[in-house]
Amino acid sequence: MIMWRGVIEEFRKFLPIDESTPVVSLCEGNTPLIPATCLAKQLFPQINLYLKFEGANPTGSFKDRGMSLAVSKALEKGAQALMCASTGNTSASAAAYGAKAGLPVYVLVPMGKVALGKLAQAMAHGATVIQIEGNFDQALGIVKELSQDDSIELVNSLNPYRLEGQKTGAMEVSDQLGVAPDLHILPVGNAGNISAYWRGYKEYRTAGQIHALPQMIGVQAEGAAPLVHGRVVEDPQTIATAIRIGNPASWRLAVQAMEESNGRIFDVSDEEILHAHALLAQVEGVFCEPASAASLAGLVKLNQVSHLPEGTTIVCTLTGHGLKDPDTAMKASPEPLTVKASRDDVSAALRL
Ligand SMILES: *Cc1c(COP(=O)(O)O)cnc(C)c1O
Repeated sequence: MIMWRGVIEEFRKFLPIDESTPVVSLCEGNTPLIPATCLAKQLFPQINLYLKFEGANPTGSFKDRGMSLAVSKALEKGAQALMCASTGNTSASAAAYGAKAGLPVYVLVPMGKVALGKLAQAMAHGATVIQIEGNFDQALGIVKELSQDDSIELVNSLNPYRLEGQKTGAMEVSDQLGVAPDLHILPVGNAGNISAYWRGYKEYRTAGQIHALPQMIGVQAEGAAPLVHGRVVEDPQTIATAIRIGNPASWRLAVQAMEESNGRIFDVSDEEILHAHALLAQVEGVFCEPASAASLAGLVKLNQVSHLPEGTTIVCTLTGHGLKDPDTAMKASPEPLTVKASRDDVSAALRL
């Protein structure tokens, strides 16, 4: 078997790098495209549904695809440090790739609004974590100013290399299916990923690797849906902290992706997100984080309001791993029973 070498080496000819670029990789990418046969059977028998499980990346989210490229380019130009604002996963990824590159990493996160696993990752990898008494959008404003200094590289998705790396997700899906899906559904926060996927599909078609393009479907959380309403949300609220963003950086690109692909964007409630989160874990055996489940919640809603023809192939990107946010998962489930360490007590508790 030949080892997977990470997105830069595997998709080198589609990326803005050359032989002299130092490659910083944790062998990200090559994530499973899981046929969601159980969910489809139960909810959408007419659909071929697949889950692109990005939680299987090295730090547990799709952010690694773009971070590999952004950090490689930062090293190439001689940056002395990395900086980002984050709802959690960008900081986890920046911290890991920064460690590998030997660069210090400074992250700003909204206090109390970052899932436990993500904060643990940033700290474990040795990043300097600053919690701000404010939200993501404010944190992004601050890091934009501080990274004007050339020696500090901003690795948020404003960094053009982030989207370049993330477009490899669409290329992988195309390779795995052999074609592009009919619909591709993603959760939308800062709107970089949906824009990156659309770019990836278009470039793959230009290269002759696929012949048709999917419709791009974006899903936001009801309390954080600036793209749905067409205006900035000052105080975004949702349990899906990874998409708790009121003023998306890639607003224009995302609208363009929706328009060009004849797709659409709509919102789902936190309740719908949690329901989809439980369905994925309990029916399909796939544990993703709440924001990721917005894509399935979107499909459930889409299936109610529009006719999805027999044989439609749909991919939902599950952006991050469920272990990132153990608190939300535990709150949604009954407490474990505690009994004495005896066969009879366990048997009684289980009503055997
Ligand atoms: C970053 C992130 C998103 C949102 O992606 P954008 O590119 O900001 O739209 C969704 N889910 C998870 C798990 C994320 O980490």
